[in-house]
Amino acid sequence: VLSDGSAVISEAAQVLHRVFGYSSFRGEQQEIIEQVVEGGDALVLMPTGGGKSLCYQIPALVRDGTGVVISPLIALMQDQVDALRALGVRAGFLNSTQDPYERQAVEQAFLADELDLLYLAPERLRTEGTQRLLDRGTVSLFAIDEAHCVAQWGHDFRPDYLALSMLHERWPKVPRIALTATATESTHREIAARLGLEDAKHFVAGFDRPNIQYRIVSKSSPHKQLLELIRTEHDGDAGVVYCLSRASVEKTAALLVENGIDAVPYHAGMDARTRAANQSRFLREDGVVVVATIAFGMGIDKPDVRFVAHLDLPKSVEGYYQETGRAGRDGEPATAWLAYGLQDVVQQRKMIEGSEGDEQHRRALAMHLEAMLALCETVDCRRVRLLAYFGQAGKPCGNCDTCLTPAESWDGTVAAQKLLSTVWRLAKERRQKFGAGQIIDILQGKKTAKVIQFDHDGLSVFGVGSELGTAEWRGVVRQLLGLGLLAVEGDYGTLVLTEESGEVLGGRRAVTMRKEKAPAAASRKESG
Ligand code: ADP
Ligand code: ZN
Repeated sequence: VLSDGSAVISEAAQVLHRVFGYSSFRGEQQEIIEQVVEGGDALVLMPTGGGKSLCYQIPALVRDGTGVVISPLIALMQDQVDALRALGVRAGFLNSTQDPYERQAVEQAFLADELDLLYLAPERLRTEGTQRLLDRGTVSLFAIDEAHCVAQWGHDFRPDYLALSMLHERWPKVPRIALTATATESTHREIAARLGLEDAKHFVAGFDRPNIQYRIVSKSSPHKQLLELIRTEHDGDAGVVYCLSRASVEKTAALLVENGIDAVPYHAGMDARTRAANQSRFLREDGVVVVATIAFGMGIDKPDVRFVAHLDLPKSVEGYYQETGRAGRDGEPATAWLAYGLQDVVQQRKMIEGSEGDEQHRRALAMHLEAMLALCETVDCRRVRLLAYFGQAGKPCGNCDTCLTPAESWDGTVAAQKLLSTVWRLAKERRQKFGAGQIIDILQGKKTAKVIQFDHDGLSVFGVGSELGTAEWRGVVRQLLGLGLLAVEGDYGTLVLTEESGEVLGGRRAVTMRKEKAPAAASRKESG
């Protein structure tokens, strides 16, 4: 048993060098490794790409026995184990994808103390058989990867993770290290409470990724905007383009290919072989763009991804941070670009309302969406907002769109009042629900068929908003949504007032708005 701190460090440093080929520790790796090697518990919050794996891999190599890694990423276990074996580390995994013979071979190796690391799916650990297996061998540590999966209102909740609280009860002498890249203050506390890690040493790394330039633009014609981004700034670069649906993944990938960009699609609906081939092209070749749903990327490690583009609004700030975090892991400049429009908000509200789970769950999803909206609509530094979300302070960064081209603002109080009173007017009718399109037509005094059908040209608010164009009005709607002064409901994206709307309508609250920037693309479709 090692008890001398300096001996621990020198042995860990040797492993770092000899096995992994690195010359020095990054960030707090050394302190974390020391804590675990000496038998203490640790809770590690480190952004994606920060180097979490070594924090348990090295202690597992230094301590006697096998380090047991609990990970929900079953699809990646084979890759992780292969990568470790290539370095000469004795690693194996147990999950549902194996046949009984493979499983038995791994179990035997574990019992013979021939494994440094054993990856386990969380549902395996719940079985009595697996627990008895662990009793019969020597476990050097438990690493709980993606620990935020234990947080019930988080975006990645896995019920199997709740059972992990038993690790400490059943194996009190085995040190535990929980790791996540996702943690607001409250998730952080929930992880500690649910896993019984209140007494663990907490390591919280800085979440800032200074080399990533954050940009959020309003969506006009997304495909044109994306092509322009790639052509003008990222020609020949490796990148990831995230889309919400499989259909739009396919469509976008095809469009890029038609335009001479080396792009491949990736989503869960593709056949496994093509998907694996596309992933491996992206990882091994230069300058491949992968167009994917968010199924892509958990655990993907490619250092030179130069841009991450979102064509649809991410569901949460955590998701946005994690997905954009896949850009620029090598520390070189990279772009995180997001195009979003009103339609995204309507679509996501619809998905939330149609989602399974109880009211509390839906409320949590809605809160995540609202935080994401607020980030999109902020006139402040994006980075400051992002870091604040993770409970960290920051200064205006000079490397995000709002810092680089400060938004021109205008007093939007009167415009907000006009829009909110139109929403209120239509709500009073109750006969029919109306979305942003109808409301903007009324404000602009457009006698469309639908306006005439409902006698909306007779409303007192008809035509009172002709001073603004449609894109500007849509911008007003988005900003009011971002400020929580307006909400979207139901299948048709009905706009409704919130409790706070009254403050604006009553003249007790002024609203400063950001001027819409003219979209770069020539032909503008009014979808933003
Ligand atoms: P995370 O799990 O936090 O997303 P990883 O553990 O996958 O991050 O590490 C990200 C990348 O950084 C990997 O390529 C890893 O090999 C590399 N890395 C980690 N620690 C070091 C280090 N001390 N020196 C150099 N590279 C490192
Ligand atoms: Zn900034």
